[in-house]
Amino acid sequence: MEMMRVPRIMHNTSVKFCMTGQTVGFVPTMGALHEGHISLVRRSKQENDVTVVSIFVNPTQFGPSEDFERYPRDIEGDTEKLKKEEVDIIFVPEISSIYPEGFLTNVKVKKISEKLCGAFRPGHFSGVATVVTKLLNIVKPTRAYFGLKDFQQYVIIRKLVKDLNMEVEIVGCPIVREQDGLAMSSRNAYLDKSQREAAPVVNRCLTEASELIKSGIINVYYIKEFMHEKLLKEPAVSVIDYAGVYDPDTLDELSEIKGDTLIAVAVRIGETRLIDNMLVESRENPDPDSGNLKNKVSKKKEI
Ligand code: AMP
Repeated sequence: MEMMRVPRIMHNTSVKFCMTGQTVGFVPTMGALHEGHISLVRRSKQENDVTVVSIFVNPTQFGPSEDFERYPRDIEGDTEKLKKEEVDIIFVPEISSIYPEGFLTNVKVKKISEKLCGAFRPGHFSGVATVVTKLLNIVKPTRAYFGLKDFQQYVIIRKLVKDLNMEVEIVGCPIVREQDGLAMSSRNAYLDKSQREAAPVVNRCLTEASELIKSGIINVYYIKEFMHEKLLKEPAVSVIDYAGVYDPDTLDELSEIKGDTLIAVAVRIGETRLIDNMLVESRENPDPDSGNLKNKVSKKKEI
């Protein structure tokens, strides 16, 4: 496994792979790697000749009062994990090489960036869209792998790649969970013992809401109310940013359940913000070729 720090060297290396007909899979991360990240790496290894993993804690996607400084960093542990997975290249750029002096550009995907998490983290998704655009331009992958844990991020990246005619296939990968259902996240490390014990309420809330939808309940207000009640019953939940039922393509809050449905939650447990989501397949729309986002995700190939 080779470690690269300089964007130009990373770019030239990747172009050489492409010129010799090799496919390049790319997994962008912020490090502190867990099994969720590793699942993306394994998928890339399965589907490509070469796998590149980037580790970059991107300052522009953190708000001024957010956790950029204390975000977990473990480059040695991450390097060991990626070596074990036989990753080909680990790309670890310096902040100054991604945002050199005089950097002025900002990529913003309108509308869908303002929904859900975007409403609570102003500027977050333009930070994400900007850095992902840069990383895709540097690494020039055949395919790039994103977790559906960050569903909104996945929808935004698909849109920006389509809108900007970028030649890369965006692959959405299933959420990896702890045994008790908590979605794996680098931020779970912030939780103390009692908060960690309380955290699976998020997944239980989604699972029970999805069961209600599958049982035929189409009243979104009932589902939303159920979700809020379930979360508020857990004293460790200090704030609910959102919990409800959304269109998986537009991320608009639904007024009735018709087709495939995204149920999503963002809460704070103490100071720690946790997000999770589930796609609920429509009972009336089981056709695997119906073209909705849910089915595109499960069919692996995108766009
Ligand atoms: P991060 O390091 O948090 O920026 O995440 C890097 C990538 O890993 C993103 O595409 C995330 O969606 C994905 N990811 C993080 N946690 C999980 C998880 N529990 N399951 C699947 N993918 C994940």
